[in-house]
Amino acid sequence: MGAKIAYFGWCGNAMRARLVAGNWKMNGSLAENQRLLNTLKAGIPVGGRAGCAVCAPFPYLPQVAAALAGSGIDWGAQNVSEHGAGAYTGEVSGAMLKEFGCRYAIVGHSERRGHYGEDDNRVAAKFVAAQRAGLTPILCVGETLEQRERGETEGVVERQLEAVLAAAGVAALGEAAVAYEPVWAIGTGRTAAPEQAQAVHAFIRARVLGRDRSVAERLTIMYGGSVKPGNARELFAMPDVDGGLIGGASLVAEDFIAICAAARK
Ligand code: PEP
Repeated sequence: MGAKIAYFGWCGNAMRARLVAGNWKMNGSLAENQRLLNTLKAGIPVGGRAGCAVCAPFPYLPQVAAALAGSGIDWGAQNVSEHGAGAYTGEVSGAMLKEFGCRYAIVGHSERRGHYGEDDNRVAAKFVAAQRAGLTPILCVGETLEQRERGETEGVVERQLEAVLAAAGVAALGEAAVAYEPVWAIGTGRTAAPEQAQAVHAFIRARVLGRDRSVAERLTIMYGGSVKPGNARELFAMPDVDGGLIGGASLVAEDFIAICAAARK
């Protein structure tokens, strides 16, 4: 099972762990990373209402681990193999990540679903493999613009979620986080309105609640898609929005620090 996300209180969404995770995507260099990590370490306090993490490209993970040691920031990978070991050239297993002290693994990001043909079953297998290795999966779900315009948002999100529930079981979701990331909002500067995000987050929670109330109530559901310091606070104020998965803004230290601070309010 993946490491539990810290659990807070018992009162509406105040009971849930909040998490803000940066997804660096395929960006960075040793020198740039070091500058970014040093500034994050100085600017993000240990403890508080929301956890904070960065998900870096594989080769930089040891650098990230060393730079963030003793800080209030966790770290994770952007992908993980669905296989344990063997003839899978170019892949990285959950056990390898765990050996370095990795905490999170993003699974099912829309860029992997779209560019690398990761279908729901493969994403579900990655989710299971991540947890088996002791990592906490951050499961990404979300619809394209065409799907939203056809009124298919809930159907798409439900299908993506159900694949994981079928493979891993509802209890496993209690040891993970879900990130609702409308594909039309990723890297486009076009954010979902807080009410649009809330509606899908509430739908996700209701689907889980149909299977297990306690898992649903404590499930951390992050929003991702052009989150910036200027819109983070109103998004995080929504009752079912428990943090964010942050792409572009996670590469700008001041922006990421401000977004993490917004989740702690
Ligand atoms: C992402 O990559 O998961 C993401 C949400 O990107 P951005 O914040 O740049 O839209």
